[in-house]
Amino acid sequence: MNYDAIAIGAGLSGCSAAIQLAKLGYRVLLLEQSHYPVHKLCGEFLSIEVTEAFENLGVLERVRKVGAHPIHRAYLTTSSGASFRSALPSAALGLSRYQLDLMLFQRAQELHVDCQDNTKVLGVVGNLQDGFTVNTSKGDFTGRVVLGAFGKRSPLDRTLNREFIQKKSPWIAYKGHFTGVDIGDAIELHSFPNGYCGLSQIETGEINVCWIAHERVMKEPTHKDLGIPESLAKNPVLADRFHNMQRVSTSLQGLSQITFALKGNFHGDICMIGDTAGMITPLCGDGMAMALRSAEIAVPFVSQFLEHQLSAITFKQQYAIAWRKEFQTRLQLGRFMHNCFVQPPLANIGVSLCQMVPALGNWIIGATRGKPNHLVSYDFASNALS
Ligand SMILES: Cc1cc2nc3c(=O)[nH]c(=O)nc-3n(C[C@H](O)[C@H](O)[C@H](O)COP(=O)(O)OP(=O)(O)OC[C@H]3O[C@@H](n4cnc5c(N)ncnc54)[C@H](O)[C@@H]3O)c2cc1C
Repeated sequence: MNYDAIAIGAGLSGCSAAIQLAKLGYRVLLLEQSHYPVHKLCGEFLSIEVTEAFENLGVLERVRKVGAHPIHRAYLTTSSGASFRSALPSAALGLSRYQLDLMLFQRAQELHVDCQDNTKVLGVVGNLQDGFTVNTSKGDFTGRVVLGAFGKRSPLDRTLNREFIQKKSPWIAYKGHFTGVDIGDAIELHSFPNGYCGLSQIETGEINVCWIAHERVMKEPTHKDLGIPESLAKNPVLADRFHNMQRVSTSLQGLSQITFALKGNFHGDICMIGDTAGMITPLCGDGMAMALRSAEIAVPFVSQFLEHQLSAITFKQQYAIAWRKEFQTRLQLGRFMHNCFVQPPLANIGVSLCQMVPALGNWIIGATRGKPNHLVSYDFASNALS
């Protein structure tokens, strides 16, 4: 076998797993279809618990240097005018995926991970007993363990014939960078009929605008002045934002068929991490933190398997149990909130309730994310972001 572990996809989960395994002394191959650096579809809002993961991975200083934007407040609105403002429990960060994924990829390179971008994985065969062969656009590679870190949706899901891919999902999303409005240190979430849109500032000073909606929104006429589907303009705050913004990105990035189903921690013997195992709804703004955390959960089991301390069956069972214990409730709550926020009457009731009982809104914000390590995050927030 050429490699101890092969990670497919160099997003947050794949890079994190590769870095951790390299630090433990394993020979690791990291395969990425894009040519880095690259813009990716994402709200680009980082929940504070990522600071501990960044420190452990050795990129916290780079995040500091590149000027990740501090986010201290949340502002939620609905199309019928309800709104909720809250201080976040700890400062969050606005950082583009263009910078973040490159930083992680370069960190993996420094640790002698064999990092190959511009390399698309076309198929995987094998098992934990005999090892795997990964077929790519640049040839075949062999390894003892394969980590599936290829994100929300990839043609590879279809090649592998994963169960979730058989079922259609109506959710589509778009993202782009804009200028022209000042939203300060807030993450804004604006609900509209059949969807919602998030705005937050990133390290360049630009505003990342990312919206997710039911596909029926795309069949609507485009608002004549704002150039967006009419549903988005039904939220007056969002309409005002679009009225004043200019797009910087040459084009919007889009993705369809986004699913929030649990996809499974293993496909055959391929160990799934990050969105490849299951994604939290974007409303929670915790997908990236979860992707990093899922790699932290998987790596000790991978290592014990490689050291022959765990059988293949125990590796699979224990990772699946640990993953569910950490994420299942959060994912369910995320789906519930998403379903409420895309329906104007429910969004209105929910946001109005939070307005009346701020403790409820604060509880939801806390319950949909991991617990930050206060020492690391406080130090980072107060020293680096002030
Ligand atoms: C609309 C929307 C907004 C979001 N906003 C936020 C937010 O604000 N904050 C937050 O924390 N989370 C957000 N998320 C979730 C977040 O983007 C994901 O949870 C996170 O990126 C998961 O990381 P990952 O490593 O699992 O996958 P990814 O970061 O998607 O990485 C997967 C990688 O695999 C590569 N790949 C795919 N197929 C192949 C192949 N065949 N061969 C080689 N490489 C391959 C891809 O190119 C990609 O680089 C949002 C999600 C959506 C849909």
